[in-house]
Amino acid sequence: MQNQETNTKHLHHVLLIYTGGTIGMGRNPVTGALEPLDFNHLHDAMPELKYVNAEIDVYQFTPPIDSSDMAPRQWAQIVRIIDDRYNDYDGFVILHGTDTMAYTASALSFMLENLTKPVILTGSQLPMGQLRTDGKENVLTSIELAYAHHLDGTPMVPEVCIYFNGKLLRGNRATKVAADGFAAFDSYNYPHLCDAGVNFDYHQHHIFRPDFTKKMMPHFAMDPHVIVFSLFPGIQESIFRRILEATEIRGIVMRSFGSGNAPQQPWLLRLLREVTERGVTIVNISQCASGVVEMGRYDTGYQLKEAGVLSGYDSTVEAAVTKLMFLQARYSDPHMIRTMMARSIAGEITI
Ligand code: ASP
Repeated sequence: MQNQETNTKHLHHVLLIYTGGTIGMGRNPVTGALEPLDFNHLHDAMPELKYVNAEIDVYQFTPPIDSSDMAPRQWAQIVRIIDDRYNDYDGFVILHGTDTMAYTASALSFMLENLTKPVILTGSQLPMGQLRTDGKENVLTSIELAYAHHLDGTPMVPEVCIYFNGKLLRGNRATKVAADGFAAFDSYNYPHLCDAGVNFDYHQHHIFRPDFTKKMMPHFAMDPHVIVFSLFPGIQESIFRRILEATEIRGIVMRSFGSGNAPQQPWLLRLLREVTERGVTIVNISQCASGVVEMGRYDTGYQLKEAGVLSGYDSTVEAAVTKLMFLQARYSDPHMIRTMMARSIAGEITI
């Protein structure tokens, strides 16, 4: 444990925002059936909470949603909840379905500018009401991480993070890697921020240190006129052209091969150039789970660059999509979007 506050005199305050997902299913004590928990009675479901050195308030989505239904409207709702109560809490824990948790974490990392407090997303693979649930450990540890402080009073992890199965990850670097199994998340292109075993092993030099004098600036707007597509051998011009000709599209995340390569068919490069000349931002992300796009490495990558395609560096798809939505809502000028895409806004890319 590094420089962590051990003084227990001060009672911390954490807001638990329950959005839905598997974690919220409890066992009916009478029938034994799994049903949605009322998180306003969290202490009944988790008596262990009385040993936590924090006062916990709960904000519940009504109705709770499966995370497949998360969308920019709900992200804005979460930003609103945090912004309205920002000064009342040491940190925030968001209980969320695992399926789109990495998208929400990425979106929030952009929408909560100058964040100076922990925002920890967590969930579980097994419902809270099931005997072998991973939910209790995930929630309890996330709460501890949300109020953990340095001796000078500043939070240990003032970032949007995902905590799951002993690992604390930067939210906009995380991705869901397992549909079953407790180790559901990882961040292949960025080290863990903390490993929670017997002790909390914080990796300080990987944790962002914000300017604590700056005010947190919430952003509520996202422009979802984006698409994601994967290249594959045998891709057909007629189909692809029809999709990319949709005039509403403002941003494209293109999942390419290896270090950012694409088939060298002239029609593909011509089409991509036509689209970028229309002012659409095309971001090149690798289909590989780890590694970085290097468009100067092979001729095929170089030709994409010539067609106006931007490098997504080592971004996850989740971070690239939500960053495009965020920038498109802020800027109407495509040049500004391109400039900002090439910058790290919230530690989402290594440049
Ligand atoms: N389908 C669920 C969800 O993402 C799965 C989970 O919670 O893990 O909401």
